[in-house]
Amino acid sequence: MLPFSPPKIYDEIIDEVIDTLRSGWITTGPKTKLFEKMLTDYNGNKSTLCLNSATAGLEIMLRWFGVEEGDEVIIPVYTYCSTANVVVHCGAKPIFVDVGEDFNINIENIKKAITSKTKVIIPVDFAGFPCDYDGINNLVNQSDFKDLFKSNNEIQEKLGRILILSDAAHSIGGSFKGNRTGSLTDVSVFSFHAVKNLTTAEGGAVALNLPEPFDNAEVYNHLCVKTLHGQNKDALAKSKKGAWRYDVIEAGYKANMTDINASLGLVELRNYADTLTRRKQIFDLYTKGFDSKGWAQIPVYETENSVTSYHLYPLRIKGIDEVQRDKIIDLIFEQEVSVNVHFQPLPMLSLYKNMGYNIADYPVAYDNYSREISLPVYYDLSNDNVQTVIKALIKAVEQVLNG
Ligand SMILES: *Cc1c(COP(=O)(O)O)cnc(C)c1O
Repeated sequence: MLPFSPPKIYDEIIDEVIDTLRSGWITTGPKTKLFEKMLTDYNGNKSTLCLNSATAGLEIMLRWFGVEEGDEVIIPVYTYCSTANVVVHCGAKPIFVDVGEDFNINIENIKKAITSKTKVIIPVDFAGFPCDYDGINNLVNQSDFKDLFKSNNEIQEKLGRILILSDAAHSIGGSFKGNRTGSLTDVSVFSFHAVKNLTTAEGGAVALNLPEPFDNAEVYNHLCVKTLHGQNKDALAKSKKGAWRYDVIEAGYKANMTDINASLGLVELRNYADTLTRRKQIFDLYTKGFDSKGWAQIPVYETENSVTSYHLYPLRIKGIDEVQRDKIIDLIFEQEVSVNVHFQPLPMLSLYKNMGYNIADYPVAYDNYSREISLPVYYDLSNDNVQTVIKALIKAVEQVLNG
């Protein structure tokens, strides 16, 4: 069976992990700090904090901004559950908006969803394709929306508008107008989960890029405390001579990244240009393979403004319904090829359905979903493997369309 997204583990990674294991320091320490610095340099933002997941990063930032019961957070309906779950954790209400043809949040729909309760918008760079951040940033800086914004604490007062917290779980290395994700808006959160482009097995990072008068280094320091029990010193600082005494200043969380995980990230980031080159080749081979097929809707992944990180290749089949799509997927698996669907829109999941959200209110998301098939993309997928996927898909689609 051709897998969908196996991790790529090579000697350089294994050696770096062994080096950490032998170093005498395995939790948050020098390698995590180095990885943070490398990420900041790569992404071009102001400061970066590594954590144990993207989900933790999203939640911590909502908590940092003081999101709570009575608040609303706008998110695209077409995303992974984590984007919405963190809003629920805070006691706030997720406001789902429909997406566009490109799978990303639709700006006209954001406009209609903003109220005086809106505190945060979480755009998602679906498949690695960055959202229109000019459009989104301009929107929250519009005077009518700034006037509508009600601040409930000092941080909200300081920003004076809705916070843009980008879910960049897919999009590290993607860019908008030549700038990389992480540097495109107030805060972006990356995921380094095992299936993502750049992995630390589990992990994530918060890329801070807050505007004046915020001091991003100061926010970073505060977040270090917030994500380590509210303790004012981390284990490394405490281990220094005579520095055993610490204080706890808030009921913090436990979400720090370990140096073992950071070891994988350091090597992955060093080799990331090569990773992106190979992923782009695979995207282009798929596009070439399906271009001549009238039924194939090729995903948009490079435009004048936006360039993807080549995370997912979300092919859509024209004119089919959900049942036919599912049948096509069965026929592909029968040929020993793994594919996937990204994502089931949130109102299709029991939790959100039971909270009263209705998929009928999100026709574009449903249409995207019902015709979507994500194809395998990973560094070690050979050109022959790509041709195997293309043949399996064409055979399955034509069988369903002609059957
Ligand atoms: C993977 C993913 C997440 C969650 O990442 P974790 O690191 O597993 O917490 C969040 N949002 C999207 C869009 C994702 O694909």
